[in-house]
Amino acid sequence: MIRTEYYKDLTKMNTFGMKVKARCFMEYDSVADLVDIEFEELARPVLHIGGGSNLLFTDDFKGTVLHSKIDFIEVLEDCEEVLVSVGAGVVFDDFCAWAAKEGLWGVENLSYIPGEVGASAVQNIGAYGVEVKDVIRKVYCYDTQEEEFVNFDVGECGYGYRDSIFKNPDIKGRYIVTHVVFALSRTPQPKLDYGHLKEAVECHPERSEGSLTPGLIRKTIIKIRKEKLPEPSVKGSAGSFFKNPVISQEHFAGIESAAKAEHGPEYKVPHYDLPDGMVKVPAAWMIEQCGWKGKRSGGAAVWDKQPLVIVNHTGEAYPEEIIGLEKRIIASVKAKFDVELNPEVEHI
Ligand SMILES: Cc1cc2nc3c(=O)[nH]c(=O)nc-3n(C[C@H](O)[C@H](O)[C@H](O)COP(=O)(O)OP(=O)(O)OC[C@H]3O[C@@H](n4cnc5c(N)ncnc54)[C@H](O)[C@@H]3O)c2cc1C
Repeated sequence: MIRTEYYKDLTKMNTFGMKVKARCFMEYDSVADLVDIEFEELARPVLHIGGGSNLLFTDDFKGTVLHSKIDFIEVLEDCEEVLVSVGAGVVFDDFCAWAAKEGLWGVENLSYIPGEVGASAVQNIGAYGVEVKDVIRKVYCYDTQEEEFVNFDVGECGYGYRDSIFKNPDIKGRYIVTHVVFALSRTPQPKLDYGHLKEAVECHPERSEGSLTPGLIRKTIIKIRKEKLPEPSVKGSAGSFFKNPVISQEHFAGIESAAKAEHGPEYKVPHYDLPDGMVKVPAAWMIEQCGWKGKRSGGAAVWDKQPLVIVNHTGEAYPEEIIGLEKRIIASVKAKFDVELNPEVEHI
């Protein structure tokens, strides 16, 4: 079934809580419904949303917003490896909860990331040393241009850091993800190398009583995330606002020597050396060094526990206030480090 609404209020459909409307909003329940939509006839532009947790609406949307309610979880094959087909409209964390309950390994580190399964395959969501591409087998889509169903093996999806072919500007919007096949495992394969995750899991009160399970890792991660990140229902945000910049070794050496001059010779700048010789520096560190942590600007603010997150502090922030803060952060990071920050959040 397809439901159509005009001048639909999207405030509750974007986690930033921007008070915007869509000229036309269409929500559908099944894969087959997509065939009935006359894509050529839709008011343009057309935007398919999931949970709206990586979007910043900068104004009312003048075209058509689509949303999937395809919400099945179906086990296709149950051996050592368990193949599970999941509808694009399933809340990704509901899938993680289901997998943990079934004792299946693979998505526990991705617990509590907001959003839906369809977008997870577009975004290549990641957390705690795992990216969703590690467990995706196939992405099933509707090609709105050729009006046919197609599917992509994981190797064809062009996955990179929060990136995929579905985000490529040349084809963005052409493919609507209908469902995704994940390969989970019955064999324990905990991934605890990221940060202090291992210690946190070992310290969890339930660890002493039982064995290591995906459920226990999930609970630990949810606890850490709740301490660090704003709860979208309480404080609007879209999570990490900026991507972590990648710079050359020479550039990094310059930043590190300036930081040592400022903070003392023992000071270490957090960074990850990439296999291609480049260096990834946490944008959060740069933003904090520029003095933005916890700073307010009108209705917007930089989250005091994680400076990579811009929040709708008052719940009434205008898009202009979020964008104004974004621009000032970009300018100050550029001035201090000669690094251009790029937003991870998609501006609509
Ligand atoms: C508090 C908070 C914490 C977060 N933490 C993380 C984190 O740890 N790791 C991480 O990777 N992300 C994180 N995010 C970002 C966000 O959760 C992810 O990007 C998520 O995948 C977005 O899902 P969504 O359903 O909300 O998609 P939306 O934001 O609605 O859309 C994202 C993109 O996917 C496209 N899209 C959506 N559905 C479909 C579909 N069915 N077919 C084709 N295209 C589609 C949209 O057009 C858009 O381009 C966080 C966000 C918040 C608010």
